[in-house]
Amino acid sequence: MRVSVVGTGYVGLVAGCCFSDVGNHVICVDVDERKIAMLKNGEVPIYEPGLAEIVHRNAKAGRLEFTTDLEYAVAHSVVIFLAVGTPQADDGSADLSALLGVVERIGALMDGYRIIVTKSTVPVGTHRKIAQVVASKTDHPVDVVSNPEFMKEGAAVDDFTKPDRVVIGTTNPAVVEIVKQLYAPFMRKRERIYVMDPASAELTKYAANALLATKVSFMNEIANLCERYGADVELVRAGVGSDARIGDAFLFPGVGYGGSCFPKDVSALICMGREADYTPLISVAAHETNQKQRRLFAERVLSVYAPDPAATTLAVWGLAFKSRTDDVREAPALTAIEMFMRSGMTIRAHDPEAMDNARSQLGDARITYHDDGYDALKGADGLVIFTDWQEFRTPDFELMKSRLSRPVVFDGRNLYDPSFMKKQGFEYHSVGRPTIRAV
Ligand code: NAD
Repeated sequence: MRVSVVGTGYVGLVAGCCFSDVGNHVICVDVDERKIAMLKNGEVPIYEPGLAEIVHRNAKAGRLEFTTDLEYAVAHSVVIFLAVGTPQADDGSADLSALLGVVERIGALMDGYRIIVTKSTVPVGTHRKIAQVVASKTDHPVDVVSNPEFMKEGAAVDDFTKPDRVVIGTTNPAVVEIVKQLYAPFMRKRERIYVMDPASAELTKYAANALLATKVSFMNEIANLCERYGADVELVRAGVGSDARIGDAFLFPGVGYGGSCFPKDVSALICMGREADYTPLISVAAHETNQKQRRLFAERVLSVYAPDPAATTLAVWGLAFKSRTDDVREAPALTAIEMFMRSGMTIRAHDPEAMDNARSQLGDARITYHDDGYDALKGADGLVIFTDWQEFRTPDFELMKSRLSRPVVFDGRNLYDPSFMKKQGFEYHSVGRPTIRAV
């Protein structure tokens, strides 16, 4: 099949590449000329495990094209996926301006029937807006399908090619068959397709993200209670997660959720409620708890150096919002680092993949970036860990201690065993567990 994907970011690039990898001819479109030039040159602008190989393989085979020319894409494909960003607007709602702008142009360029498939996360009812915008530009017929994306950054290729489910939101059975055909190669063991009306499909995405965000915020709340009562949240987590009705995924306490999805999608869901004169209280609480959790962790670090923060140098491991990605959007590390720098601290930062993206947000004043994690520790008064990269799990503790000028570790991901850290001679702060003081 010939398909186009508009928006070549984390979702669009992965979707486009994976569709081409199973034999489709895919045109990836983006307004970002730099990104398209890089891709045409064989460079992949984002870090996503396994993605570069797929890009190279399919571009070489001529099945995967990159262009800024939307007209070319619309002329050469009947199925057009929308994967542009839908960031948070100032009022917390989803900003649909890029998406509806693309739709308007597609409408104006259509020379016949088209199927517009929305992969971007969009509020309930957007399918109707899209149909209206197209109808305002052309008399050619269009089907608008909601096909929300559930991939996780850091495992996006795997999630796309082995999805838990594919949601197809349309009431047209012929269109269901066409979209199903595209996903059939990823459903060889068993079909995991859920066909529903577009409004239900649009809401399914928000409901899934809000529920996952709620699990994280709930466990952070329990972690904060653990700290106040001397309990250990890791034991509580294991005990709670063993209940099959609850499950053990997404129960990890920490520095609060971040990324380009949970914060903005929970906010957008709250706005959707508000517009319908209904307050989704659980989502409001998940959001507020998350904001508080980010502050609590940073404030704890600041309190340890309270007398003279300006004389403090902190090493930071992990800048991305989670491991296996270079994405720093809404990353708890960045919010905390900004707080540290505002208080006068100097930062020595390390992340395996996200340093360029972090630098463009944090700049170079009061902060240095280090390719080697141990280099970042040199002369620092403590180490703060924000991201659970695999390589941070079993570091060389001896070297860590020798590089730090004070053996203090703030572990926002509970990577280490407190009693082990005590034996190693660290002052060790984690989340929802007793603090280990240096002897
Ligand atoms: P992104 O910012 O990485 O990519 C969006 C791309 O769209 C950018 O390359 C941008 O240049 C391009 N773009 C913007 N305006 C355009 C236009 N007018 N024409 C063509 N291209 C344009 O975003 P993303 O993380 O891939 O997210 C895309 C959508 O998918 C969002 O709605 C997001 O909520 C949703 N989503 C994201 C994830 C995720 O993990 N990142 C997962 C599921 C769903």
